[in-house]
Amino acid sequence: MDRVINESSQRITQHFGGDHRGVDLGWRTDESQNKVHANCKGTVVDAIDGLNRHEGSTGWGNYVCIKHGNGMYSRYAHLRKGTVAVKVGQVVDENTVLGIIGDSGDADGRHLHFEVSTDHGSASRINPEPYLTKAISDNAPTPTPSSKNVNVIYRVKTKKHGWLTEVKNLTDYAGYENSPITDVAIKVDKGSIKYRVHVRGGNWLPWVTGYNINDIKNGYAGNGCEIDAIQVYYYTPDDIRPFKKAKYKVNNYSFQHDTETTNGQDGYAGVYGVNVTKFQIVIE
Ligand SMILES: [Zn+2]
Repeated sequence: MDRVINESSQRITQHFGGDHRGVDLGWRTDESQNKVHANCKGTVVDAIDGLNRHEGSTGWGNYVCIKHGNGMYSRYAHLRKGTVAVKVGQVVDENTVLGIIGDSGDADGRHLHFEVSTDHGSASRINPEPYLTKAISDNAPTPTPSSKNVNVIYRVKTKKHGWLTEVKNLTDYAGYENSPITDVAIKVDKGSIKYRVHVRGGNWLPWVTGYNINDIKNGYAGNGCEIDAIQVYYYTPDDIRPFKKAKYKVNNYSFQHDTETTNGQDGYAGVYGVNVTKFQIVIE
C-alpha cells in the first residue's frame, strides 16, 4: 500500500498528545511507499517547498495544508525538499500525491507529521489519528455552539378584539384593556412546548403543542369561552443544558414555572373564577 494518509495507522511512530499536535508516520525503504496523498478532496491553501532539515521558521519544513469542504484543514509536514507537487489554489483529492516523506524543518529523522485542525491556525489542532482511516470531509463540520437562548412567541384572543398581535418573550404582555382572554397560542424557536387553558367555571381543555390559529385541534388552547388559568410546560432540547422552564404569569399574579407545585406555586398561572386578561411568558 503506497498511500500514506488513509490506511496508514500501522505506520504511526509518534501519537498525538501533549505538545505533539499531530501524528507521525514512519518512512519505508521502498520509496514508492513514501508518497503522501491528500486525505480527501480539498483546496491547497499552503504549499511550501525548498527547505532542508532545520530550515524554515514554522518547524514544519516543507508542507502542504489543505482546506476541506466542511471547513476543516489537514497539514502534511517535513516533506522532502523539491518534492512538493501541488500549488496553492489547486483542488486535490485522495488520489493526489502532495509530496514525498522527508525530514525538512524540525524533524528528528525522516517522517510525515500529519495534522488536522478546525481552522487554518495551529491553535485548533485536533487528534488526527481517526483521519488516518477515514476522510475528513465525511464528517459534519464542527458544530458552532447554538445560542442557548430560547425565544417564545405568543398571542391571545379576546371575544371583543379577536386574535391580538404576537408578543415575544417579556417585551410586552398579551392582552388588551382588561378584556377577558378566551384562547392562547404559544410557540418556541428551540425545543418544544405544551400548554392548556382552564375554562372559567369549567374544566381544563386538552393539552396542545402546535401554533396555528386555524388549527382548532392542536394550534391553540381555548374554545372561545373565558379562561381563568393557563398551564405551560417546556421541553428542553438535548443541546441545551441546563434544563430550561417556561416561566409565565397571568394578570398581576406571580410567575409560575412549568407545572411546578413547589415553593408556593399552584402548578398553573391564574385563580379559578377570575378572568385572565393579561398573559406573559419567557423561557429561562
Ligand atoms: Zn510530529
